[in-house]
Order: sequence, then C-alpha cells, then structure tokens
Amino acid sequence: MREVEVVVVGAGQAGLSSAYHLRRAGFEPDRDFAVLDHSPAPGGAWQFRWPSLTYGKVHGMHALPGMELTGADPARPSAEVIGAYFDRYEHAFGLRVRRPVEVRAVRESDGGRLLVETSAGTWSTRALINATGTWDHPFWPRYPGQETFRGRQLHTAQYAGPEEFAGRRAVVVGGGASGTQHLLELAPYAAATTWVTRRPPVFRDGPFDEEAGRAAVALVEERVREGLPPRSVVSVTGLPLNDAIRRGLADGVLDRRPMFDRITPDGVEWRDGGRVDADVILWATGFRAALGHLAPLRLREPGGGIRMEGTRAVADPRIHLVGYGPSASTIGANRAGRAAVRDIGRLLAEERPVAA
Ligand SMILES: Cc1cc2nc3c(=O)[nH]c(=O)nc-3n(C[C@H](O)[C@H](O)[C@H](O)COP(=O)(O)OP(=O)(O)OC[C@H]3O[C@@H](n4cnc5c(N)ncnc54)[C@H](O)[C@@H]3O)c2cc1C
Repeated sequence: MREVEVVVVGAGQAGLSSAYHLRRAGFEPDRDFAVLDHSPAPGGAWQFRWPSLTYGKVHGMHALPGMELTGADPARPSAEVIGAYFDRYEHAFGLRVRRPVEVRAVRESDGGRLLVETSAGTWSTRALINATGTWDHPFWPRYPGQETFRGRQLHTAQYAGPEEFAGRRAVVVGGGASGTQHLLELAPYAAATTWVTRRPPVFRDGPFDEEAGRAAVALVEERVREGLPPRSVVSVTGLPLNDAIRRGLADGVLDRRPMFDRITPDGVEWRDGGRVDADVILWATGFRAALGHLAPLRLREPGGGIRMEGTRAVADPRIHLVGYGPSASTIGANRAGRAAVRDIGRLLAEERPVAA
C-alpha cells in the first residue's frame, strides 16, 4: 500500500492540469501525489479519436497550463498531435503518470483516508481528484427491435473513419457535434445517409464569445449544483454554423428527421408508417461521466448526479471532479484543475495545522 496526499485519476487535460498545479503548489510526484491512468499512452481520450478528426477540425482546443502547443500540422490526426503534446508536457513538468493503471474502486478507510483500489495495487490518500472524462462510458439509447437489426451498429467511440461506410446505407443518430461531423464525412462514401435526432438541432450563428461561453457554463453549473446529471455542452451552446455545416444544410446531408420509433431487421421505422432501409446505424449519442469506481462512496443524489460546489463534491470535500459538467471542455478542465488543487491545499492544511 502506498500512501500519498492526493491521487489524481485520469491523465487527460483535466488530470494533467491538476498534476501541474499540484507541483506548483509544492506537492512532489510519487511522494505526495500519484497520477493513475488506464490508457496505454499519453493523450487522454484524444488518443482514441478517429484518424479523420484532424487537428485542424478540432474546434477550440486550449493548451495545457504552462506550455503552448505551437506549430502543429492541422492535417495530422488530433490523436497524434495531442498525444505527442501531452507526452512532452508530462516529461517537461515531471508528472510521472503511471499507466496503464485501472482504478477499480475508491472506498472509505480508517482515519479519514480513502483507499484507491487499482490493477496495480492500492493507494491510500487524503484527497482524490477524479479526472476520468467520459470516453469510457458511451451512451447507447435503447429502441424497440434494436436486437433484431441485421446490419451493424456502432457508437462514435468505435468510429474509425468514413471509408468503412463505402456503398452502405447509414442512419446517424444524434444532434451533437459528433453526429454532424460523421454525416459530413460519410456522405461522399455512403450509398445513402439519414440523420435522426430527438430534438430539432439548434444552430448557432456568429462567434461564440466569452460571454456566451460563460452563460453556457452557468447553465450546466446550475444543474450539477442541484445534483442533476450534467448536460452536454452542445445542448446549451448549439451547433456552430460553420461553412461545412452550411454546405451540409444546403445540399441536404443535414436534412434532419425526428427520431424513429422502432428498429427492424432491415432498417428503422416511424409510427406514421415511414421507413428507411439501412446497413449501418451509427449512434452519435454522446457519453456519460465515467464514475463507476466512485460508487462505493455513494455520492450520487436521487436526481442521478453528484451535487457539486465548484469542483468539490458537496457530500465529501476530499473528492473533486474535474472535467465534469461545467468543466467538460479543454479550457474548463484547465481551470478546474487549478481550482481543485487550491481547495485541496486548504483542506489538507486545515486538517493538519502547523504546530505552534
Ligand atoms: C469527439 C470529441 C471532440 C472534442 N473536441 C473538443 C474541442 O475541440 N475542444 C474542447 O475544448 N473540447 C473538446 N471535446 C471535449 C474534450 O475532449 C474534453 O473536454 C477534454 O479533452 C476532456 O479531458 P478530460 O481530461 O476530462 O478527459 P479525457 O481526455 O477523457 O481523459 C480521461 C482519462 O482518464 C482515464 N480514465 C478513465 N477512467 C479511468 C479509470 N477508471 N482508471 C484510470 N484511468 C481512467 C482515461 O484513460 C483518460 O486518459 C471533445 C470531445 C469529443 C468526444
């Protein structure tokens, strides 16, 4: 059993920002804190994103604190660019991420400490920064007849690029950024595409300025303060009406239909008798926070979310969630890491006052 002051779970943007701020606050890696990540390489979830999601297509990736990401080739896959950048970052600041280490459960222990059970043994810690993102928890809605479909069903998390859709009839489900990006990519390859979403998509024209950003974050923040599950960022910001989306709307690729009512062996059907034959259903239905390992701490509210005050879990001030809810963006993750470290620094100092 290793004893530390803080365990950081996850080494994506949120975890690395936290580790950076821990170092700046005087915490030493290995002696005072440990960063554990179950992925094989640096890059957080970026390392798993499809190759056609090039760095140039990523909107608004903010650099990690203390080191710019400059000169990256916009034509290279974001997985490569950001993976290499995170790797440089971890080395530059000596963050000593341990990987692959799967955190399986976090439990209460004696003396107010937490036990972090992992694939590589147990850590005992006084505080925990959870930065596990959402990529590991894809959300698949259920529809009647789903199991009878003879074609292929896949989620954004398994999407590897448009080539495998050549000559196929594809139904894309979901009104977020991934859904629209998939459709725009698939259209030149697929025999036919159909876009279905639960709610009519909302497009946002004009720049997304700081004020609009703050308003969007405030909406998500309000939910987590009430202990409700956070909503996706696009659900509060709308989809940016860029040139690619405008073209997709003009040529009919982004001609949206309401959600179908059932899935048949050959496609999808609506209650009014409408049907579309399909070879593939691509579920671009988003992700949920990957928090299963925190279940033993019983932080969830009846509303299904974890009640938060800033990055701190209201039910347990030793636990901080970064990259969760209002901080689920690269800039939000940066700020959340700093806020969590500041708060934890205060908590640990209060618990162990300096002797007079
Ligand atoms: C397709 C796509 C495009 C996006 N584009 C943008 C963008 O352009 N701009 C932007 O600001 N945001 C974007 N986002 C959101 C963005 O990815 C995030 O807000 C940010 O990068 C997430 O960082 P994170 O550290 O919270 O999570 P992640 O990058 O997911 O990192 C979480 C880490 O935790 C690890 N982990 C998870 N569970 C465990 C466990 N039990 N034990 C150990 N380790 C674990 C994972 O291995 C992973 O390395 C995008 C998201 C998606 C899905």
